[in-house]
Amino acid sequence: MNADAERQGDEAGTVQFFAERQGKYVDWRHHLHRNPEIGFEEHDTARFIVERLTDMGLVPVTGLAGTGVVATIKGQGQGPVIGLRADMDALPIVEQADHDHLSQRPGVTHACGHDGHMTMLLAAAEYLSETRDFPGEVHVIFQPAEEAKGGAKQMVAEGLFDRFPCEAVFGLHNWPGLDLGTFAVKPGAVMAAMDLFSITITGTGAHAALPHEGTDTIVASGNLIGAIQSIASRSVNALDPVVISLTQVHGGDALNALPGKVTLKGTVRALSEGARALVRRRLEEVISGTASAHEVKASLDFDPLYPVTMNDAAAARLSADVAGDLWGSGNVITDYQPSMASEDFAFMLGVKQGSYAWIGNGRETPLHNPSFDFNDDLIPLGARYWVALAQNYAGLTGNNP
Ligand SMILES: [Zn+2]
Ligand SMILES: [Zn+2]
Repeated sequence: MNADAERQGDEAGTVQFFAERQGKYVDWRHHLHRNPEIGFEEHDTARFIVERLTDMGLVPVTGLAGTGVVATIKGQGQGPVIGLRADMDALPIVEQADHDHLSQRPGVTHACGHDGHMTMLLAAAEYLSETRDFPGEVHVIFQPAEEAKGGAKQMVAEGLFDRFPCEAVFGLHNWPGLDLGTFAVKPGAVMAAMDLFSITITGTGAHAALPHEGTDTIVASGNLIGAIQSIASRSVNALDPVVISLTQVHGGDALNALPGKVTLKGTVRALSEGARALVRRRLEEVISGTASAHEVKASLDFDPLYPVTMNDAAAARLSADVAGDLWGSGNVITDYQPSMASEDFAFMLGVKQGSYAWIGNGRETPLHNPSFDFNDDLIPLGARYWVALAQNYAGLTGNNP
């Protein structure tokens, strides 16, 4: 048998492996969907993952970032070591859907599809542990608290890559608006950095009829809201995308009194660390200038959260090649716009080469929508991608783009 025919034979075996077990994997996914837990509280979820990995003969390690779970699968002989990562947490959203595996936990649902991500990685782990049909080793990494709590940061800080050294790490997210199984991966920025900020404006409260006796925090905050919007449009290069959204305005209790304090809160998204730093500096300058113009005091509390999710060029190319081999290069998109949403896998890509890819779920319901439900047809596709990465990874050359 020539190499191509042999590879096709292997691939047919992989397809059959996942097809035969799809019913079991759908049961796993539905169990996870019925029992969602929010970030850092994924205790039952972690227990479920540990049970499945143990059933596969693996020895899962628990406790990283509290509820994280990692297991190592040894392949054949010496070879490279890579990490494959799935996120575990659900969202504090009331599910509004109509299917037979509704969330049994009030006010919490897997509206981002992390139930499916865990299942795809468990399915891949089962294949890899049964066949050992890959060189080197694979760490399967189940990470808590992706949704705005930085579970990846905590896992890295607690020594994830010291305890489980690897050359590269890979992430995968189901993505609405892309055809089922269509794959999107490219070098460079794919998800934005995320920072949160809070501005406290303090002045002197006054009777609403006698504003000259106080210093008005309402008018000051109104002008500040407008001035902040000039940062993205006037201070940042138009070719360096930035979004600054004010999401909360709090102030005032009475209809006839000017409050002594107003609080504004918001978020910054940027696709470069340079733009991110520039926005922070300009926020400080605009806030202080506007405050002095209105004779009020204003302070900025800036909370840098997630870095830009930056794909390594060689890893992105490998991911695209692997997906192209599976589904044809016509189904692999490498020229697409990054998302201004954010992803804490950025923390892992900050210390390891790797890539973060999207796999189309063939549906339009947005992520984080109350009716969102992972598409089970993706389970064998995502699992095959993980397996093919393990089988085809032979080291990366080159570095960040
Ligand atoms: Zn999400
Ligand atoms: Zn997500």
